[in-house]
Amino acid sequence: MSTQDQATAAPAAHGDLRARFEQEFGSAPDGVWQAPGRVNLIGEHTDYNEGFVLPFAIDRTARVAVAVRRDSTVRLLSTYGDQGVVTTTLEALRPGTAKGWTKYPLGVMWALRERGVGVPGLDLLLDSNVPLGAGLSSSHAIECAVITALNDLTGAGLAAEDMVLATQRAENDFVGAPTGIMDQSASLRGSKGHAVFLDCRDQTAHLVPFETEPAGLALLVIDTKVSHSHADGGYASRRASCELGAEVMGVKALRDIEVADLDEASGLLDEVTFRRVRHVVTENDRVLQTVELLGGPGPGAIGPLLDASHASMRDDFEISCPELDLAVDTAKAHGAIGARMTGGGFGGAAIALTPVDAERKVRDAVAKAFAQAGFAAPDIFTVSPAAGATRIA
Ligand code: ADP
Ligand code: MG
Repeated sequence: MSTQDQATAAPAAHGDLRARFEQEFGSAPDGVWQAPGRVNLIGEHTDYNEGFVLPFAIDRTARVAVAVRRDSTVRLLSTYGDQGVVTTTLEALRPGTAKGWTKYPLGVMWALRERGVGVPGLDLLLDSNVPLGAGLSSSHAIECAVITALNDLTGAGLAAEDMVLATQRAENDFVGAPTGIMDQSASLRGSKGHAVFLDCRDQTAHLVPFETEPAGLALLVIDTKVSHSHADGGYASRRASCELGAEVMGVKALRDIEVADLDEASGLLDEVTFRRVRHVVTENDRVLQTVELLGGPGPGAIGPLLDASHASMRDDFEISCPELDLAVDTAKAHGAIGARMTGGGFGGAAIALTPVDAERKVRDAVAKAFAQAGFAAPDIFTVSPAAGATRIA
């Protein structure tokens, strides 16, 4: 299935997933669990500066049907791709050994074992409609579905914050991806009609009302299909600038600098470092303002903050690309009330908050503008703020 097909496909009904599981593994699963992907509404490159982010869980989920086994064998199968059943054992779980998609479920099993949870052998069938590699965190959706299942099946009684840390451990030490806590916090703690306001310093999370439909709005995701896999050097240099900025300013992290301190910063920092710092400082402020507006007038008021976030990433942090800029500018020109690139940058997706009655116009205009520019056709679809990880059968 192509990403496009997958992006528009409905998730398999869990009845079907149970039937497919029985067909593949010869007996019924113990249950079915699901966890969503996420979109970051605002707050980019603020997480590693101990600042604020505001992601929300989306209505696209990874589902896992799982049965506990009596032995230590682990059998894994995804409905996506044609890799067939991957078989391993609990004893073989070691960082760096797993291949392909299985490193996500196996990483979670490993991280739980490291915490002393008695993880059993199991059979697992995955079915997901979170598009892969579009910046919607399809990998965390898998991890969060698996950890929610294992928390239930083992009776480990882990709280959401424990599961957040265990999935981070799986990503960092088993998968080998230096990711933070945002994606799994959204997937595990998300709630329908809400965004998750996360303080990345003390890791506290609060739900903030965020409903698009009652406000007559749709949140469009425009996946540019530009791969951000080449962006490692770009991320590393942005991080280094942030660390330098904090050091020169004499603070623990850029979180500790206020917008009012920027005048002073401009005298102390070289021009490029100053712009990097200004992005992070103003972005943190924009997250706080967004939270405030969502609690008051609602999503119809946040458009200018989304726009300012994009301008800051394009001009100060310099992590946009022509495709993302075109998506944002075109969406705005055809009725979106706010638009920004989302995710780490150098490719990936943009979001456009659009009145429902302008949605078709925006979609068509963006598709046409991409064709005219000679860019690959983007995937465009809507998402809405949905429930976090849960057992569904
Ligand atoms: P993102 O998390 O932003 O979507 P990643 O590169 O972190 O991008 O994760 C994508 C990877 O997750 C894929 O390469 C694949 O290994 C795995 N993955 C996601 N969804 C599925 C699925 N339905 N079946 C198998 N593997 C999947
Ligand atoms: Mg990922």
